[in-house]
Amino acid sequence: MVIAHTIQEFQKARLALQGSVGFVPTMGALHQGHLSLLQRARAENDCVVVSIFVNPTQFLEGEDLEKYPRKEDADIEICRLAGVDILFMPTIEQMYYKDELIILAPKIRGYILEGAKRPGHFDGMLQIVMKLLNLTSPTRAYFGKKDAQQLSLVTQMVHDYFMNIEIVPCEIVRDKDGLALSSRNVYLSSQERLRALSISRSLQKASQMVMAKEFRVDVITEAMRIILRDVDSIEYVKVVDRFFYPIEEVKPQASIILVAAFVGKTRLIDNLWI
Ligand code: AMP
Repeated sequence: MVIAHTIQEFQKARLALQGSVGFVPTMGALHQGHLSLLQRARAENDCVVVSIFVNPTQFLEGEDLEKYPRKEDADIEICRLAGVDILFMPTIEQMYYKDELIILAPKIRGYILEGAKRPGHFDGMLQIVMKLLNLTSPTRAYFGKKDAQQLSLVTQMVHDYFMNIEIVPCEIVRDKDGLALSSRNVYLSSQERLRALSISRSLQKASQMVMAKEFRVDVITEAMRIILRDVDSIEYVKVVDRFFYPIEEVKPQASIILVAAFVGKTRLIDNLWI
């Protein structure tokens, strides 16, 4: 495995790859969720490229940029064992220039839900993903459904900018107790972690209701909010279609139920594709 820290090192290593390339962009502190993306990329491509970069432009003022978990040595080992060909770990200076041009998320779909709660987050996310996709020039790039709106916007960017890359959505990986894996789960105390389980429980409840043919969004989200009393504050409980437009009736096979909530100081998101 080549570990590249500069653009030049990366480009040299990339030139040496032959055949199809699967790319997995991450912010590190890798867990089983990331590993599932790596394994899928490994299975479906001749070569695998992974990036680890805690991207400052997608963090808002006052968010956890400085204390975002960093586990470089363990991450390198995980990538090596997963058969990654190139691990790209650039510095901020390598990735950004002064007064560079910017990419803006779409005005509607980029500024609802996560985009409303974290204005500017998706601009920064799309900016770094565009750079990484252009540098890597992959055949396929792998994104988790855990960050559903991110996945949707990246898919739109690739479409709108005529980028010849297949975006592959990957299933959410959860702990045995149902909590969706996230690098940010390490912030939770054991007591908070227990309360955080209400998020996945509320989604399970929604799933049961849909299976019992309850499709009214107001009824479903009301039942979810009762379970979500265990969290400290709910940012949103919403149901959207696959294009992220809010809907009033769940359509099976075509809807996403999303939750964002704070448990203590930790902001958690989760969702269910239904
Ligand atoms: P991050 O390091 O949090 O930026 O995540 C990198 C990629 O891993 C993104 O595409 C995420 O959606 C994906 N990911 C994070 N957590 C999970 C999970 N629990 N299951 C599946 N994919 C995940």
